[in-house]
Amino acid sequence: CGIVGIVGKQQAENVLLQGLERLEYRGYDSAGIFVADRTSSHLVKAQGRIQNLADKLTPEVTGTIGIGHTRWATHGKPSEVNAHPHTSASGRLVLVHNGVIENFDDLHQTYLANDVLKGQTDTEIVVHLIETLMIQEQLSTKEAFKKALSLIQGSYAFALVDVKDPTVIYVAKNKSPLLIGIGDGFNVVCSDAMAMIDQTHEFLEIADGEMVIVTNDSVTIYDAAGRGIQRESYQAQLDL
Ligand code: GLU
Repeated sequence: CGIVGIVGKQQAENVLLQGLERLEYRGYDSAGIFVADRTSSHLVKAQGRIQNLADKLTPEVTGTIGIGHTRWATHGKPSEVNAHPHTSASGRLVLVHNGVIENFDDLHQTYLANDVLKGQTDTEIVVHLIETLMIQEQLSTKEAFKKALSLIQGSYAFALVDVKDPTVIYVAKNKSPLLIGIGDGFNVVCSDAMAMIDQTHEFLEIADGEMVIVTNDSVTIYDAAGRGIQRESYQAQLDL
Protein backbone atom coordinates (compact mmCIF):
# COMPACT_ATOMS: atom_id res chain seq x y z
CA CYS A 1 0.00 0.00 0.00
CA GLY A 2 2.76 2.49 0.91
CA ILE A 3 6.52 2.60 0.38
CA VAL A 4 9.21 4.77 1.94
CA GLY A 5 12.99 4.60 1.71
CA ILE A 6 16.03 6.71 2.50
CA VAL A 7 19.75 6.45 1.91
CA GLY A 8 22.43 8.60 3.50
CA LYS A 9 20.92 9.96 6.69
CA GLN A 10 21.77 9.01 10.23
CA GLN A 11 18.83 7.38 11.97
CA ALA A 12 16.97 6.38 8.84
CA GLU A 13 14.47 4.60 11.12
CA ASN A 14 12.97 7.88 12.33
CA VAL A 15 12.45 9.14 8.79
CA LEU A 16 10.85 5.83 7.77
CA LEU A 17 8.53 5.74 10.75
CA GLN A 18 7.42 9.32 10.22
CA GLY A 19 6.90 8.59 6.51
CA LEU A 20 4.77 5.54 7.26
CA GLU A 21 2.70 7.59 9.71
CA ARG A 22 2.06 10.12 6.95
CA LEU A 23 0.75 7.27 4.77
CA GLU A 24 -1.51 5.80 7.47
CA TYR A 25 -4.60 7.52 6.08
CA ARG A 26 -4.44 5.22 3.05
CA GLY A 27 -5.22 2.18 5.17
CA TYR A 28 -3.06 -0.88 5.89
CA ASP A 29 -3.05 -4.10 7.89
CA SER A 30 0.64 -4.33 8.86
CA ALA A 31 3.91 -2.44 8.56
CA GLY A 32 7.63 -3.00 8.63
CA ILE A 33 11.03 -1.39 8.23
CA PHE A 34 14.53 -2.53 7.39
CA VAL A 35 17.56 -0.40 8.30
CA ALA A 36 21.27 -1.05 7.87
CA ASP A 37 24.73 0.41 7.81
CA ARG A 38 28.12 -1.18 7.19
CA THR A 39 28.17 -3.06 10.48
CA SER A 40 24.59 -4.10 11.24
CA SER A 41 21.13 -4.60 9.80
CA HIS A 42 17.70 -4.82 11.39
CA LEU A 43 14.29 -6.01 10.16
CA VAL A 44 11.24 -5.17 12.27
CA LYS A 45 7.62 -5.92 11.32
CA ALA A 46 4.30 -5.75 13.13
CA GLN A 47 0.68 -6.50 12.41
CA GLY A 48 -1.79 -3.69 12.98
CA ARG A 49 -0.96 -0.07 13.78
CA ILE A 50 2.29 1.74 13.01
CA GLN A 51 2.43 2.29 16.76
CA ASN A 52 2.87 -1.50 17.18
CA LEU A 53 5.92 -1.23 14.93
CA ALA A 54 7.21 1.85 16.76
CA ASP A 55 6.89 -0.02 20.07
CA LYS A 56 9.26 -2.72 18.75
CA LEU A 57 12.03 -0.30 17.71
CA THR A 58 14.74 -0.78 20.31
CA PRO A 59 17.72 1.66 20.31
CA GLU A 60 19.97 -0.71 18.31
CA VAL A 61 17.51 -0.55 15.38
CA THR A 62 19.34 2.20 13.54
CA GLY A 63 21.03 2.72 10.17
CA THR A 64 21.95 5.10 7.38
CA ILE A 65 19.88 3.28 4.74
CA GLY A 66 16.39 1.89 5.08
CA ILE A 67 13.12 0.91 3.45
CA GLY A 68 9.65 0.73 4.97
CA HIS A 69 6.20 -0.45 3.97
CA THR A 70 2.56 -0.39 4.94
CA ARG A 71 0.76 -3.46 3.56
CA TRP A 72 -2.74 -3.86 2.27
CA ALA A 73 -2.84 -7.64 1.75
CA THR A 74 -3.72 -8.99 -1.68
CA HIS A 75 -2.02 -12.42 -1.46
CA GLY A 76 -1.63 -14.05 1.93
CA LYS A 77 -3.45 -13.09 5.10
CA PRO A 78 -2.47 -10.05 7.17
CA SER A 79 0.25 -11.31 9.54
CA GLU A 80 3.73 -10.44 10.73
CA VAL A 81 5.39 -13.01 8.45
CA ASN A 82 3.51 -11.69 5.41
CA ALA A 83 4.30 -8.05 6.28
CA HIS A 84 7.03 -6.42 4.19
CA PRO A 85 10.04 -6.03 3.91
CA HIS A 86 10.68 -9.57 2.64
CA THR A 87 14.15 -11.13 2.67
CA SER A 88 15.89 -13.61 0.37
CA ALA A 89 16.99 -17.06 1.58
CA SER A 90 20.50 -15.88 2.50
CA GLY A 91 19.16 -12.69 4.08
CA ARG A 92 21.22 -10.61 1.67
CA LEU A 93 18.35 -8.99 -0.28
CA VAL A 94 15.50 -7.04 1.27
CA LEU A 95 12.43 -5.94 -0.71
CA VAL A 96 9.23 -3.92 -0.31
CA HIS A 97 6.46 -4.00 -2.91
CA ASN A 98 3.18 -2.32 -3.69
CA GLY A 99 0.93 -3.95 -6.23
CA VAL A 100 0.20 -7.47 -7.45
CA ILE A 101 2.53 -9.96 -9.19
CA GLU A 102 0.23 -11.82 -11.56
CA ASN A 103 2.59 -14.63 -12.62
CA PHE A 104 4.02 -15.40 -9.17
CA ASP A 105 2.94 -19.05 -9.37
CA ASP A 106 4.72 -19.59 -12.71
CA LEU A 107 7.85 -17.83 -11.42
CA HIS A 108 7.81 -19.99 -8.31
CA GLN A 109 7.53 -23.21 -10.29
CA THR A 110 10.12 -22.23 -12.89
CA TYR A 111 12.80 -20.69 -10.68
CA LEU A 112 12.39 -21.52 -7.01
CA ALA A 113 12.63 -24.50 -4.69
CA ASN A 114 9.36 -25.48 -3.09
CA ASP A 115 10.37 -24.94 0.49
CA VAL A 116 12.02 -21.52 0.21
CA LEU A 117 8.96 -19.42 1.15
CA LYS A 118 8.32 -18.21 4.68
CA GLY A 119 4.90 -16.69 3.99
CA GLN A 120 2.19 -16.57 1.34
CA THR A 121 2.72 -13.25 -0.45
CA ASP A 122 3.28 -12.75 -4.17
CA THR A 123 6.07 -10.33 -3.19
CA GLU A 124 8.24 -12.95 -1.51
CA ILE A 125 8.60 -14.82 -4.82
CA VAL A 126 10.31 -11.74 -6.29
CA VAL A 127 13.04 -11.40 -3.66
CA HIS A 128 13.86 -15.10 -3.99
CA LEU A 129 13.80 -14.82 -7.78
CA ILE A 130 16.39 -12.01 -7.72
CA GLU A 131 18.72 -13.96 -5.43
CA THR A 132 18.29 -17.13 -7.50
CA LEU A 133 19.28 -15.21 -10.64
CA MET A 134 22.33 -13.81 -8.83
CA ILE A 135 23.46 -17.30 -7.83
CA GLN A 136 22.50 -19.34 -10.88
CA GLU A 137 23.50 -16.81 -13.54
CA GLN A 138 26.20 -15.07 -11.52
CA LEU A 139 24.58 -11.69 -12.03
CA SER A 140 25.20 -8.54 -10.01
CA THR A 141 22.34 -7.26 -7.88
CA LYS A 142 21.54 -4.65 -10.51
CA GLU A 143 21.60 -7.17 -13.38
CA ALA A 144 19.53 -9.71 -11.45
CA PHE A 145 16.97 -7.04 -10.52
CA LYS A 146 16.77 -5.96 -14.16
CA LYS A 147 16.31 -9.54 -15.35
CA ALA A 148 13.68 -10.22 -12.68
CA LEU A 149 11.77 -7.14 -13.87
CA SER A 150 11.73 -8.58 -17.40
CA LEU A 151 10.20 -11.82 -16.07
CA ILE A 152 7.56 -10.26 -13.82
CA GLN A 153 4.00 -9.54 -14.94
CA GLY A 154 1.71 -7.34 -12.91
CA SER A 155 1.72 -4.05 -11.09
CA TYR A 156 4.55 -3.02 -8.84
CA ALA A 157 6.54 -0.39 -7.08
CA PHE A 158 9.71 -1.97 -5.68
CA ALA A 159 12.47 -0.76 -3.39
CA LEU A 160 15.33 -3.23 -2.94
CA VAL A 161 18.41 -3.17 -0.68
CA ASP A 162 21.44 -5.47 -0.83
CA VAL A 163 22.85 -5.80 2.68
CA LYS A 164 26.34 -6.29 1.21
CA ASP A 165 26.24 -2.77 -0.23
CA PRO A 166 24.21 -0.63 2.17
CA THR A 167 24.68 2.53 0.11
CA VAL A 168 22.20 1.80 -2.69
CA ILE A 169 18.41 1.51 -3.05
CA TYR A 170 17.30 -0.17 -6.29
CA VAL A 171 13.92 1.03 -7.50
CA ALA A 172 11.44 0.19 -10.27
CA LYS A 173 7.75 0.64 -10.98
CA ASN A 174 4.97 -0.52 -13.27
CA LYS A 175 1.42 0.81 -12.87
CA SER A 176 1.98 1.59 -9.17
CA PRO A 177 3.15 5.01 -7.96
CA LEU A 178 6.76 5.66 -6.90
CA LEU A 179 8.84 8.85 -6.69
CA ILE A 180 12.41 9.80 -5.87
CA GLY A 181 12.95 12.71 -3.48
CA ILE A 182 16.16 14.74 -3.63
CA GLY A 183 17.80 15.73 -0.38
CA ASP A 184 21.01 17.46 0.66
CA GLY A 185 23.38 14.59 1.48
CA PHE A 186 20.60 12.01 1.23
CA ASN A 187 17.89 10.84 -1.16
CA VAL A 188 14.51 9.24 -0.55
CA VAL A 189 11.96 7.08 -2.33
CA CYS A 190 8.22 7.08 -1.66
CA SER A 191 4.90 6.01 -3.13
CA ASP A 192 3.43 9.43 -2.29
CA ALA A 193 5.30 12.75 -1.97
CA MET A 194 3.36 13.43 1.22
CA ALA A 195 5.32 10.67 2.98
CA MET A 196 8.62 12.54 2.64
CA ILE A 197 7.50 16.14 2.66
CA ASP A 198 9.34 16.76 5.94
CA GLN A 199 12.60 15.71 4.23
CA THR A 200 12.34 17.42 0.84
CA HIS A 201 10.01 19.18 -1.59
CA GLU A 202 12.12 18.30 -4.63
CA PHE A 203 11.00 15.15 -6.46
CA LEU A 204 11.79 13.16 -9.59
CA GLU A 205 9.22 11.12 -11.46
CA ILE A 206 9.92 7.56 -12.57
CA ALA A 207 8.21 6.09 -15.63
CA ASP A 208 6.95 2.52 -15.96
CA GLY A 209 9.70 0.19 -17.13
CA GLU A 210 12.59 2.27 -15.78
CA MET A 211 15.09 1.11 -13.18
CA VAL A 212 16.63 3.62 -10.80
CA ILE A 213 19.75 3.38 -8.65
CA VAL A 214 19.61 5.74 -5.67
CA THR A 215 22.56 6.59 -3.41
CA ASN A 216 23.08 9.42 -0.92
CA ASP A 217 24.38 11.75 -3.64
CA SER A 218 23.17 10.33 -6.96
CA VAL A 219 20.03 9.18 -8.77
CA THR A 220 20.66 7.20 -11.95
CA ILE A 221 17.70 6.37 -14.17
CA TYR A 222 17.87 3.61 -16.82
CA ASP A 223 15.28 2.95 -19.49
CA ALA A 224 14.16 -0.59 -20.32
CA ALA A 225 17.03 -0.93 -22.80
CA GLY A 226 19.54 -0.05 -20.06
CA ARG A 227 20.39 3.44 -21.36
CA GLY A 228 20.92 6.25 -18.87
CA ILE A 229 18.22 8.95 -18.85
CA GLN A 230 18.40 12.57 -17.68
CA ARG A 231 15.32 14.02 -15.98
CA GLU A 232 14.58 17.32 -14.31
CA SER A 233 13.24 17.37 -10.78
CA TYR A 234 10.22 19.44 -9.77
CA GLN A 235 9.06 21.19 -6.61
CA ALA A 236 6.06 19.52 -5.01
CA GLN A 237 3.30 21.93 -3.95
CA LEU A 238 1.49 20.26 -1.10
CA ASP A 239 -1.10 21.57 1.29
CA LEU A 240 -0.28 20.25 4.72
N1 GLU B 1 0.61 -7.94 -3.08
C1 GLU B 1 1.47 -7.59 -1.97
C2 GLU B 1 1.03 -8.30 -0.70
O1 GLU B 1 -0.05 -8.82 -0.63
C3 GLU B 1 1.56 -6.08 -1.75
C4 GLU B 1 0.30 -5.47 -1.21
C5 GLU B 1 0.42 -3.94 -1.07
O2 GLU B 1 0.50 -3.22 -2.08
O3 GLU B 1 0.39 -3.45 0.09
O4 GLU B 1 1.78 -8.37 0.23
